[in-house]
Amino acid sequence: MRSSRSRYGGTPLNAQVLVLNQNYEPLNICNVKRALVMVFTGKAEVLEQDGLILHTVDNDYTIPSVIRLSALIKRPRPQVKLTRKEVFIRDSYTCQYCGVQSRDLTIDHVIPKSRNGPHTWENLVSACKSCNHRKGGKTVHEARMQLARAPFRPRAGAYYTIQRKVHQSVRDEWSKFIPGFEPLSSYSTLVYGGED
Ligand SMILES: [Zn+2]
Repeated sequence: MRSSRSRYGGTPLNAQVLVLNQNYEPLNICNVKRALVMVFTGKAEVLEQDGLILHTVDNDYTIPSVIRLSALIKRPRPQVKLTRKEVFIRDSYTCQYCGVQSRDLTIDHVIPKSRNGPHTWENLVSACKSCNHRKGGKTVHEARMQLARAPFRPRAGAYYTIQRKVHQSVRDEWSKFIPGFEPLSSYSTLVYGGED
């Protein structure tokens, strides 16, 4: 197989395809290979094409850029994974004790680990190094500190899955299906919408 242009480093089969639910809601991103399989098996239709042609021994295929599932998929909103980075994102990269904004934050257990504080969204906050040091193994009250707000489990925005798979600006053909989409590089708390 070869492609007519090599915009994707020569492997268009790995290029990204936006997958919409039957109701046009953005669901996911997959690669061209998987998208073509879904189209050939009747599980999806092509809405937008890339303009690239994929030449195989038997046929030429236009590479899809956006596909839409033939059947409506019902699935629960994805859960935001509990990681250091996601805690920082939830807290807008802001120390929850002194309010300083920084990319150099630590994770603080509100109820200390030494007091069996759990590793949960509700017990983890972003803290600058100096606040984390000051708080040490104490509770918020004992350390005479104050939390900016009670930590919570963030809701995944509508584009959570897509947001985490796109590492560059979205392609032109995609933008009408995902209005207001911002690439990961300019990621902000807006994604969590309404939870402030
Ligand atoms: Zn601080």
